[in-house]
Amino acid sequence: MAEVERARDEIVDVAARLVRIPTVNPPGEAYEACAEAIAAQLRAHGAEVQVLPATGRPEHTAAHPRVNVIGRHAGAASAPAVHLNGHFDVVPAGLGWTRDPFGGEVAGGRLYGRGSCDMKAGLAAAVFAVEALRRAGVAHRAPIEVSGTVDEESGGFAGVGWLAAHGFIAPDRTSAVIIPEPFGVDRVCVGHRGVYWFEVVAHGRIAHGSMPYLGVSAIEGMSHFLDLVRDELGPLLATRVTAMPVVPEGSRHATINVNGIEGGQAPDATPSPCVADHCRAVFDRRFLLEEGLDRTRAEIAALVAKAEARMPGVRFTIEDRLAFDANRTPDAAPVVGALTAAIQQVVGRPAALVASPGTYDHKHVARIAGVPQCVAYGPGDLAMAHQPDEYCSVEDIVTSTKVLALAVMTLTE
Ligand SMILES: [Zn+2]
Repeated sequence: MAEVERARDEIVDVAARLVRIPTVNPPGEAYEACAEAIAAQLRAHGAEVQVLPATGRPEHTAAHPRVNVIGRHAGAASAPAVHLNGHFDVVPAGLGWTRDPFGGEVAGGRLYGRGSCDMKAGLAAAVFAVEALRRAGVAHRAPIEVSGTVDEESGGFAGVGWLAAHGFIAPDRTSAVIIPEPFGVDRVCVGHRGVYWFEVVAHGRIAHGSMPYLGVSAIEGMSHFLDLVRDELGPLLATRVTAMPVVPEGSRHATINVNGIEGGQAPDATPSPCVADHCRAVFDRRFLLEEGLDRTRAEIAALVAKAEARMPGVRFTIEDRLAFDANRTPDAAPVVGALTAAIQQVVGRPAALVASPGTYDHKHVARIAGVPQCVAYGPGDLAMAHQPDEYCSVEDIVTSTKVLALAVMTLTE
């Protein structure tokens, strides 16, 4: 704890320096520079460092290389490692800032900037949790790894997904993964709801717009499906409640959102009299652990069939865009126990177990790597993520560094 206190300014400085590297995603700017900065820090802390470009991924291009980094401290025994992982990509700054989004300014006990909260402060906390143990001369039996990865904000396939697919996170190599996403100093996130993104296309038949009865309007067809989503599926989903501690509480229900819709002629185009022969819409369905992906998918297919029956002549197709099952690390997992005990010791109150309404890199750890112990714990207020004037409290950064250090010590001793 004393070593973390002594490193306070260093931790904030490293977090600030990371914020100043504008790793904006999309498109994935400055990843190489940020990976190198993290690599240099990890090397300075005596880690064995690998810089790992996500070769083979289509989004890993010459213009926007996807580069990850892992630092490893070997343990006294050849046991699986405890792995701390943070993504270093950030969403675009957007409008409404009163500070430089990439200035890394520290003022009034806060570190400001895009990515300060989500999640460069967390990454710095992870780096210094491990470093504090080293400075304190704490021996560890199991190896400790810290990774910085790309593309979490766009799915994480070239980041944690790539590390998992290439065996860098694996059951024989990794005992537990802690992701310092900004859930706050006293909350441990044990998992997330599932996500099913799909596109529905209504296919009609073109005809002259002055004789619309000679065609079949795909837009009218889609309106039948939208009616069913609003009047039948929506109310049904609102009755389904998960036993997972999802926050905010509104997301304890299953939900669906229409992300976008497009059909017929583009409104900006010069109009010509045509019946819309196509209409497509993209939906974001968040489902509960208790629902599962298969049932969710089948329910949508049945609803589409119902819309089709309501309007003969319109044909519907469904295409999956993205699908990940819900995940939950058991409350009894050692990684949960180590963190909750550390929170009690450092923060002085019991930890709350929470779950996330949306997915994050946990999904790759569970699905590709097959490592069942994964949680998120890190500094910052989740509500600050992706906001203008995003900040992370300096006190939170220091506190969570202590918690992480204690938890890693427990898990590797
Ligand atoms: Zn994040």
